[in-house]
Amino acid sequence: MEMLYRSTRGNREIASASLAMLNGLAPDGGLYVPDHLPRLEKSFVELSQMTYHDIAYEVMRQFLTDFSQKELRACIRAAYDEKFDTPQIAPITVADGRYFLELWHGKTMAFKDMALSILPYLMANAAHKLNEEREIVILTATSGDTGKAALAGFADVPGTKIIVFYPKHGVSPVQEKQMVTQEGDNVLVVGIKGNFDDAQNGVKVLFTDEGMRARMNEKMLRFSSANSINIGRLVPQIAYYVASYAAMLREEEIGSGSEINICVPTGNFGNILAAYYARWMGLPVHKLICASNSNKVLFDFFRQGVYDKEREFITTQSPSMDILISSNLERLIYHTAGDDAEKCAALMKRLSREGHYEISREMEKELSCFAAGYATEEECAAAIRELYDTTGYLIDTHTAVGAAVHRKYVKETGDDRATLIASTASPYKFPRAVWNALQGRALSDRSDATEDEALAERLSKKSGMPLPEPFLQLKQARVRHNTVCEKEGMRAEVERFLGL
Ligand SMILES: *Cc1c(COP(=O)(O)O)cnc(C)c1O
Repeated sequence: MEMLYRSTRGNREIASASLAMLNGLAPDGGLYVPDHLPRLEKSFVELSQMTYHDIAYEVMRQFLTDFSQKELRACIRAAYDEKFDTPQIAPITVADGRYFLELWHGKTMAFKDMALSILPYLMANAAHKLNEEREIVILTATSGDTGKAALAGFADVPGTKIIVFYPKHGVSPVQEKQMVTQEGDNVLVVGIKGNFDDAQNGVKVLFTDEGMRARMNEKMLRFSSANSINIGRLVPQIAYYVASYAAMLREEEIGSGSEINICVPTGNFGNILAAYYARWMGLPVHKLICASNSNKVLFDFFRQGVYDKEREFITTQSPSMDILISSNLERLIYHTAGDDAEKCAALMKRLSREGHYEISREMEKELSCFAAGYATEEECAAAIRELYDTTGYLIDTHTAVGAAVHRKYVKETGDDRATLIASTASPYKFPRAVWNALQGRALSDRSDATEDEALAERLSKKSGMPLPEPFLQLKQARVRHNTVCEKEGMRAEVERFLGL
């Protein structure tokens, strides 16, 4: 059955997967959502005998129905190759009875690689299918990890340019160094004096600006997005949840048909939404546990049915989750409202005008497959230390939010089902905070990239977990980008770079 995409805000315009991917955001400012719920066509017994590539194909073909088998398989093959340091692509490590799904074996050491390794290939195919002659300009806001993963994916890809805005003082030294050392003739990296929400908002404004679009057209340019507002980001992420369950079955960690829980450290709600879509497709999931750091806007939402962004923005040691406006929640709102775009649009209008909205009791009932929790900085530090002391396994500060929240969830509910915890970054991406946690000190203390490199080496010696290749390369890398602008200056930077 052909899969089509609609806007969460009621645009009657219907898009194919290719068009939805190239547009990124729907013309009315809504997010593209699939118009029906596909089911996995293979049984888990069959899936458990398949490779990551084959499982990814089984999942993605249901969403990208305008891709031929040959095209989609070629994209998957090109994306999930030696760029990943293990042929399993997304391996699971069992520690303390929990299943850590390691999504950081790609080039930039965070889970964003899982989707951004394949997105450039999907987009190139989509552009070809739609006879797109304009150059594609990937406009991206990042909380730290998307930026580098998108840069790595799109650098020097013919027919594309990529622009990344990151919060100058809101990313880790390793994250910043990864971005500002990016090579490639088609890339622009800019730090903004503001937080991630400011960057994301600025990008959304540029995206929906008619005048800008017209001038871009004249220059044969068009915007697209590498953020998780792009459906092309979400679809590849569904695959690893399905593949994990299949692997747990294969390893006889769970019995056929048994339900698991999935706990996801969450920021923009993309990764956990992919798990929600996987559940739709037939993945036996009891609870999707949404784990927040001290910016616990999602925790409050799931507890009270009220989304309220009017609160203090807290800078934590899990910076990729320091977000108060979780874009992808809009997709969940749309689905829980019974795919009602009008209802969804009204709530989003409220959010932008008044800073908050409340959902109905009925909608709340639809959210019963979610549980939510949050972890303070101290709880995250304790989670890192305890896990290391008891098992020798090292996790990063984001994964620690998941581990800490899962612990609290088990305590509160007694639900001790097998639980997959999304491990979203390598511990070596945040060496200072991880090191401090192991010493029993507070997570905080900023350091610079050189200090971080030395600390990562000490961590690696101590734990015996090898330093990833991309980390070693980073040491030699030269800074190429040092532009910083006010949040109001984003437009001017884009215009300058594109010659508008
Ligand atoms: C992006 C990111 C997250 C948050 O993922 P969302 O899809 O935005 O919820 C968590 N951890 C790390 C390391 C990330 O890079």
